[in-house]
Amino acid sequence: MDPDSPTERLLISDVLGSLGYLSQAHQQQFYNAYVLGATAHEGQQRSSGEPYIYHPVAVAHILGQMHLDHEALCAALLHDVVEDTSISAAEIEQQFGKNVRHIVEGVSKLTGIRFSSKLEAKAENFNRLLAAALTDVRVILVKLADRLHNLRTLGSLRPDKRRRIAGETLELYTPLAGRLGLHQLRIELEERAFANLYPLRWRLLCSGRARLRKQQQELIQQVEQHLTQSFRHAQLGVQLAPYEKPLWQLFLARKRTLSNRYLAEVAPPARFGTLLAGLHLRLLVAQPEDCYRALGIVHSLYKPRPQCFKDYIAVPRNNGYQALHTTVYGPHNTQIKVQICTPQMHHKASYGMASYWHEHPGAVPKQEAVIRDWLHPLLELHQSTSNSMEFLEFFKNENFTDEIHALTPNGKVIRLPAGATPIDFAYAVHTDIGNTCVGATLDGRPAPLNTHIRSGQTVAISTAPEAHPEPRWLNYAATTHARIHIQRFLKRLSPKEAAELGRNLLTHELFLLGIAWTDIAESALQPWLAQQHVASLDSLYAEVCLGSRPSFLVAAALSQLAAPPAQQRPTGIQPTPLVRGNKPYFELASCCHPLPPEFIVGVSRQPVGLTVHRHDCPTLRALLQHQAHYEMLAWGPELGSTFIGELYLYAKNQTGVLAEITQVISRADANIEDVDFPESTVYYKLIEISLKVKTLAHFEAILRDLARIPSITQVARGRATVPISP
Ligand code: MN
Repeated sequence: MDPDSPTERLLISDVLGSLGYLSQAHQQQFYNAYVLGATAHEGQQRSSGEPYIYHPVAVAHILGQMHLDHEALCAALLHDVVEDTSISAAEIEQQFGKNVRHIVEGVSKLTGIRFSSKLEAKAENFNRLLAAALTDVRVILVKLADRLHNLRTLGSLRPDKRRRIAGETLELYTPLAGRLGLHQLRIELEERAFANLYPLRWRLLCSGRARLRKQQQELIQQVEQHLTQSFRHAQLGVQLAPYEKPLWQLFLARKRTLSNRYLAEVAPPARFGTLLAGLHLRLLVAQPEDCYRALGIVHSLYKPRPQCFKDYIAVPRNNGYQALHTTVYGPHNTQIKVQICTPQMHHKASYGMASYWHEHPGAVPKQEAVIRDWLHPLLELHQSTSNSMEFLEFFKNENFTDEIHALTPNGKVIRLPAGATPIDFAYAVHTDIGNTCVGATLDGRPAPLNTHIRSGQTVAISTAPEAHPEPRWLNYAATTHARIHIQRFLKRLSPKEAAELGRNLLTHELFLLGIAWTDIAESALQPWLAQQHVASLDSLYAEVCLGSRPSFLVAAALSQLAAPPAQQRPTGIQPTPLVRGNKPYFELASCCHPLPPEFIVGVSRQPVGLTVHRHDCPTLRALLQHQAHYEMLAWGPELGSTFIGELYLYAKNQTGVLAEITQVISRADANIEDVDFPESTVYYKLIEISLKVKTLAHFEAILRDLARIPSITQVARGRATVPISP
């Protein structure tokens, strides 16, 4: 697809010719709608100068290709009539029924009402559109087709107008298309919006890709030939369809990589050139069983890349997507991403919700089913927000496409956005369960309320009648639905209660940073409050409680005010020496590997004993938010004299690097416990090493020595949490 290419102009006869799936009577109605529309728009022109009616005809054509029913098609022809001509909604209803009127009104912007700002008008119109779509999904489909044709014909507009429309498309409409699984439409919208929003980058990427493909032509032919031969040999019919990864997606992936410091430092593998160089190939085979045979053929021809195989046929994605995915090394070690599926699966993947009409041309799906399967997060969001501006704001922030599904103990599926926690789950089951939630188990194991639920996990929520939402939950909730209910509860608290809750939360966050209130001088606090435009400490507490200021950010800011020595030691608590005598059973936590003389905190463990964490360990922080029982500890003599220290480093992928590393370590009189290579590319290797060391100072000296090795670009304590390759 080339977003810059002009689109052909369609005549009504062309569209009618493709509507053979409709009955004669419905085709007649479609034609009547055309006559009404053409008469109404008579004399009007689009900015390109062509008669206006070409636009609604093109929109109807897009929907006709999806085999939509006659009402949606009539509404498409009339979608701008109410807004731009003298024909009223009542007249449309009279001629075409109330459904067509509903769709047309849903996509029409409000006119005649004055809004105080452009943003407010946008919010109000978008809210109306979605409200109408929640009664009839065809409203969204007409709107998306309208937007698609507008983008196809943006060329005649001023550049600033183009950018505005493109930006709005990426902000509001592509997430909607994604939500409904309309991937083909979404991708075209994204690519065209990209081309209009960042024309220069778009052109560069396009020409870069074209150049690369030209260079790879021979290779592509070779791969296709190999595969065709192998499939012929196995007597399995196959259709090879090379495809391109959409540029907008590449652009986003690259942006994400660059915004991550670790990834950015090892950027070479994520260069556009590298991203563009890989080949993508879709293999269509007739039957689901054939997919596995096809996979066997591909894997015996080319070496598969380990851990890149995904079976979405046996375990479909939450949106119903099915296919086998694998990555193989083709000729000259070129990576080839291969998707294997049947034509039906591919159709479903491209059209999502709209594939219903392909299976039942001209029929209308039940709205309840549409809501259940495709629109429920939107419905939830719509019901829990109180005005259009709030709705728009939340819509923009909500992740509508990455979903997980969790199960209740009775096996009921609860769909949540990726990153959702038991708090979100509890509120999704029922508001009362959310409001009285005290704990959760994931797959039978107790888990903190801020754990990210993984798809397929069974979540059980325990409740207590006297429990109530807590301010810190606002930090955990990933869904607007949960946040709104938590905030609603917190807003009902008296100012005194809110201040108290806020103060507790803040005290706790400060404790995790090793700071007590007494460490912060009044003389430093007052100017800071004034600078933050907060009237008093009590109002700061209240704001923390209501979530208008995230507690951890406030705590971090306050920690800067604390007197310098206090920052180095948790105060106000007398550490208990950790010796075997008074603590019968303990272990040093494997998440943070504390080293003497770091400040340590013991958390009681089930059924007995203590786990010892570093006081600034993130896992500890998560644990403490749910578990009151912890104590400050001091290093006792009986802990032994060697401890585990973990580090990771990025090294240039050259021979001899490992030898240099081991030399440095043994010269420092430390022992290697374990070495792992979680990632390795042509350029870089990520190496994780566990060491036996004596103290923190010993360990830090080794880190410094390693950092001096020229071929090592980065050394850090801990474990690498980010994979490097895209
Ligand atoms: Mn339009």
